[in-house]
Amino acid sequence: MTTPIAAPPPSTAAPKTRKRILTGDRPTGPLHIGHYVGTLANRVRLQDEYETFLLVADYHMLTTRLADLHEIGQNIRDDVLDNLAVGVDPEKVTIFLQSLIPEIPQLHVYFSMLVSVPRMQRIPTLKDQLRDHSLREPTYGLLGYPILQAADILSVRGDLVPVGRDNESHVELTREIARRFNELFGEVFPVPASLIPEVGLLPGTDGREKMGKSLGNAINFADDPRTVAKKVMSMYTDPNRLRPTDPGTVEGNPVFVYHDSFNRDLAEVVDLKERYRAGKVGDVEVKQRLVVALEAFLEPIRERRARFAAAPGFIDEIIHEGSRRARAEATATLHAVRSAMRLDYFGL
Ligand code: ATP
Ligand code: MG
Repeated sequence: MTTPIAAPPPSTAAPKTRKRILTGDRPTGPLHIGHYVGTLANRVRLQDEYETFLLVADYHMLTTRLADLHEIGQNIRDDVLDNLAVGVDPEKVTIFLQSLIPEIPQLHVYFSMLVSVPRMQRIPTLKDQLRDHSLREPTYGLLGYPILQAADILSVRGDLVPVGRDNESHVELTREIARRFNELFGEVFPVPASLIPEVGLLPGTDGREKMGKSLGNAINFADDPRTVAKKVMSMYTDPNRLRPTDPGTVEGNPVFVYHDSFNRDLAEVVDLKERYRAGKVGDVEVKQRLVVALEAFLEPIRERRARFAAAPGFIDEIIHEGSRRARAEATATLHAVRSAMRLDYFGL
């Protein structure tokens, strides 16, 4: 049997000198300020310190979206563009596409032998996915996708995984798989840690627990200023507050969660909170100030985004080059795995 795509020899993988980050997105739609809080800020902050691999997880997209697949190509490019716009540096970070790395699904096969079905059924995100996508029961692919995520992380032997709170259980599963593999076959994998911000998850503009790409409650990097203002002015706040003179609740109020995350004028935030609690400021003013704070944050991102978008072929080149590099790593990992498992009966 011949392999359809020639894999690079393992020796092309660069030696690992720094700790590694593996992080990524599903190309299901435009990135938003929730992604920034959850993971993008950490990606940018740590890109010098860690050798960073950024995955665009197109297989993962298939688990919940088999409609409109013609959009994926554009979504993939937009995802990379959004990452660059917030400050991910393509010179420092290896950006790669999951489906260009056939070693990832190969690792998934091996890893899927190490995890029981009930363990997968207990993963909390499964329930959320079924609810959010109005599904009665999961496909085999949806049930197993956290194992595929473990293959993503371990394919490049990632040490640290910056993610939002919703992905915590997947990194936990990855740790279990790494430990189990190492126990059975010898030390091949690091046991990765997750890096989850204090906020955990940024709530949606509608007050739902999670701002989500497909939930219609997000402020996107690609939104123009008018759209941002419109979204903010119609945000959910304290539902029990009917008049500006009513004392309001700040804790868990999404407008204040956003102020805490994005408003650099800390004195203003303190003052607004005090007045809100005392019934001395209206929701309109609090929101107007949030629009100003968000614009200060979003404006340079929009500018960078436009600059990168104007360079034809640039994004595709980054994806190809990054995937080539990531593939060399994944090939070396797969060799190590097969060798440790004594699956070298016909060579590796
Ligand atoms: P989907 O609903 O299609 O899965 P998503 O919004 O969850 O989309 P992903 O691409 O799955 O986006 O997630 C990318 C990263 O962003 C993950 O680390 C995830 O934990 C994080 N993230 C997503 N939404 C939020 C949010 N509202 N707050 C904080 N982090 C988030
Ligand atoms: Mg997600």
